[in-house]
Amino acid sequence: MIIEMQKGATEKDIRQVVKRVKENGFDIQMNQGKEKTIVAVLGSGTESIETQIFEVLPGVEKVIRIMKPYKLASRDFEKENTIVEVGNVKIGGNAVVIMAGPCSVESKEQIISCAKIGKSLGAKILRGGAFKPRTSPFAFQGLKEEGLKLLAKAKEETGLLIITEIVAPEDVPLVAEYSDILQIGTRNMQNYRLLEAAGKSGKPVLLKRGFSATLEEWLTAADYLLRENNPNVILCERGIRTFSNSTRFTLDLGIVPVVKKYTHLPIIVDPSHAAGHWEYVPSLSKAAIAAGADGILIEIHPQPKKALSDGPQSLTFSDFSRLMAELKLLAKAVGREI
Ligand code: PEP
Ligand code: MN
Repeated sequence: MIIEMQKGATEKDIRQVVKRVKENGFDIQMNQGKEKTIVAVLGSGTESIETQIFEVLPGVEKVIRIMKPYKLASRDFEKENTIVEVGNVKIGGNAVVIMAGPCSVESKEQIISCAKIGKSLGAKILRGGAFKPRTSPFAFQGLKEEGLKLLAKAKEETGLLIITEIVAPEDVPLVAEYSDILQIGTRNMQNYRLLEAAGKSGKPVLLKRGFSATLEEWLTAADYLLRENNPNVILCERGIRTFSNSTRFTLDLGIVPVVKKYTHLPIIVDPSHAAGHWEYVPSLSKAAIAAGADGILIEIHPQPKKALSDGPQSLTFSDFSRLMAELKLLAKAVGREI
């Protein structure tokens, strides 16, 4: 951490800053320039002190952090890539893992047909929301426990693993009984009590990026999960809000290599929520794999026009089948497999 003093800062101001640094158990390194004094705060643990404790002192211009606020998610903490093992599926290894299914679980026929097509085309994980975090309270909120039971049936029939969303800490034990991976949605990325409850469940957790979250905020949220001694955290980029309104959200594929650089956690891309329209999903899926994503989370539906949520962005089975053939070729071209 660097404390930059104002031009006119007095000796007394500087002494006070130094005193506060030392009171907090840190060392200092002074850099007295012609016009300004810079005080570097040295020692381990500077990331856990608030910059305000120095900012409020007289004569301080600004305080700049050097250490990243996230720790456990950082590459500095763990050099090797984390591979999350769920059943016989490895997320973060050489294989690109396809997770597919409807936005919401709606009926037995619907979820089982999605599971069967997914299974036959090489998807490893079945998605489907039972507890839905909808923007409007009047929109379909999901079948809740009934939806979880239908997911369990689909798993029984096909052997696919299940990922489904949790929206409240009190639902975690119930959802964890049925789901192999807990999904935390974009709207809940900074719901810290939910993160703690999900972390404590011991289940792998897929943490979607908040649609206005920076990389730092996202990885610091991941630390909440990791801090519960739960190493099985998967990140998911699903589009962020920008000035561009040509798609529902802007898929930030640039963050995939950045995530790979700064964290050891695997990253999945959800092209469906970013695109908002089925027509754009294939291009974004292919681009995600080319960018180095460890998997794709994609919405499909037997009859998208009749879907109770996110129909416009859901692929039909025939479009999904065409896409899977392309993704297999693409994965091979970049030295991976599906
Ligand atoms: C979903 O996966 O259906 C969902 C609600 O996603 P997001 O949290 O990215 O909006
Ligand atoms: Mn959806």
